[in-house]
Amino acid sequence: MKRVGAHVATTGGVANAPRNATAIGARAFALFTKNQRQWSAKPLSAREIDDFHEAMAAGGFRAADVLPHDSYLINLGHPEAEGWEKSLNAFIDEMRRCRLLGLTCLNFHPGSHLRQIDEERSLDRIGEALNRTLEVTEGVTAVIENTAGQGSNLGYRWEHLAGIIARVEDKSRIGVCLDTCHAFVAGYDLRSEASYTEVMRTFGETVGFSYLRGMHLNDSKPDLGARVDRHENLGRGRLGLEAFRLIMNDPRMEEIPLILETIDDALWAEEIRLLYGMVESGERVEAG
Ligand SMILES: [Zn+2]
Ligand SMILES: [Zn+2]
Repeated sequence: MKRVGAHVATTGGVANAPRNATAIGARAFALFTKNQRQWSAKPLSAREIDDFHEAMAAGGFRAADVLPHDSYLINLGHPEAEGWEKSLNAFIDEMRRCRLLGLTCLNFHPGSHLRQIDEERSLDRIGEALNRTLEVTEGVTAVIENTAGQGSNLGYRWEHLAGIIARVEDKSRIGVCLDTCHAFVAGYDLRSEASYTEVMRTFGETVGFSYLRGMHLNDSKPDLGARVDRHENLGRGRLGLEAFRLIMNDPRMEEIPLILETIDDALWAEEIRLLYGMVESGERVEAG
């Protein structure tokens, strides 16, 4: 089964995330477990954790249907010791928050070299941060997201994702999240069946589908290869609907969170229905 959802709000408490997901007909969701624009957060209370578990059960969500996203401030590839340590500590804290909520993944953006060190040295720092994190946490997989390659952000080439995985010792707790908008603006063309097939073939060869833990389903305002991160609602951007039809019929995307981060959240319920409507019947007879 395909599990489509959206990155829902937690206003009023984390337990509102599964409730908001249920309200839009989602079978999966993403959330921030703390304010994504602040470094520190109050620890989760026993009450908040209990409420979250209750709301998860009420909505019929499994831990694997949830793809929490880390703070935008964290940069595990930071070239300077102070910025790197601060990011590492914040990342460890977020992994622990996920664990407390009974969740099993944490989605993060790889990091930025800030034009102070080269890509390989920055990837070394990301790998080191992940190894330290996995040593002092348990039960939660760190899920690297591919990026648009805006500014000095790493993660816009499959080789960056593979390079990070190669540096991580415990490969059972590292995964990948594919964002369609980011892939497209990074130069991976998903618009036709032929180009989609080729892009996914190179992903499979370079990274491997065994690491795929989720996807972000976003159309794109900028064009192919623009290296600018601007999401758009489905069918309203330069990527177009065919990519999403292909994903909804791709058996490699079964049972993982497929998360909308499109700009107008008023359209999410409609987009979720649209996506489920794209699933073709298994009994369909192949033409020709
Ligand atoms: Zn994303
Ligand atoms: Zn984005």
